[in-house]
Amino acid sequence: MKLHKYSDRFYVHPYDKRSDRPNLYYILGDRMAVAVDAGNSWRQVHEFYDALSEEGLSLPSFTVVSHWHWDHTFGLHAIHGTSLSSKKTRDKLLEVAKWRWTIDEMRQREKDGLDIPFCNDNILIEYPDLSEIRVVTTDRIIEEETAIDLGGVELRILPGPSTHTDDALYVYLPAEKALIVEDADCEDFNHGEVYDQDTLRQMISFFESIDYDYHYLGHAERESKEFAINRLKGELK
Ligand SMILES: [Zn+2]
Repeated sequence: MKLHKYSDRFYVHPYDKRSDRPNLYYILGDRMAVAVDAGNSWRQVHEFYDALSEEGLSLPSFTVVSHWHWDHTFGLHAIHGTSLSSKKTRDKLLEVAKWRWTIDEMRQREKDGLDIPFCNDNILIEYPDLSEIRVVTTDRIIEEETAIDLGGVELRILPGPSTHTDDALYVYLPAEKALIVEDADCEDFNHGEVYDQDTLRQMISFFESIDYDYHYLGHAERESKEFAINRLKGELK
């Protein structure tokens, strides 16, 4: 899959619903590049990096991980450079790294409420050979708002409220007026597919407090800020 270019500084390697691969974002500075999310396997990482080299773009020095879910992290062992995440993401990945990958163990985790059939069904598509799965955790922890100057472009990593998981990092590009949300504004699929109303209110206020035009999602096309906030307000009870 080819890269899609939003600007000279900002690209995406597009999502693919066949095995639930997410959008992998790429921000290019004069001194270094940063990616958002590591994808669901080494195969997705390689396709992403091949697409970068086709365009003559350098590999990312850093990969920011938006949240712990498999489709955003199981490619971590194959990335170039350093990975960054919240402490909760790091701790959850240390736990997932101990999971065993047989069909019986996967279905048992569904019964125990640790995972859901949607994830396991897609894992079986991405990994016909389950012994290929390698889970590693991230290299560095981001605990508060952090700005990185990539040379000619600034990126801000923002810990923030998320209705999807409790470990989210957002990536904000002020010059692009872009907020990279990935899955953070979805329901919590592991706990009943409902929006926690308090977190939803906090998350909407968080989005309203940031100056941006587009909301960049994990498994869909970008949305305008206004459209995304109205969509989320429609979930308020
Ligand atoms: Zn997710």
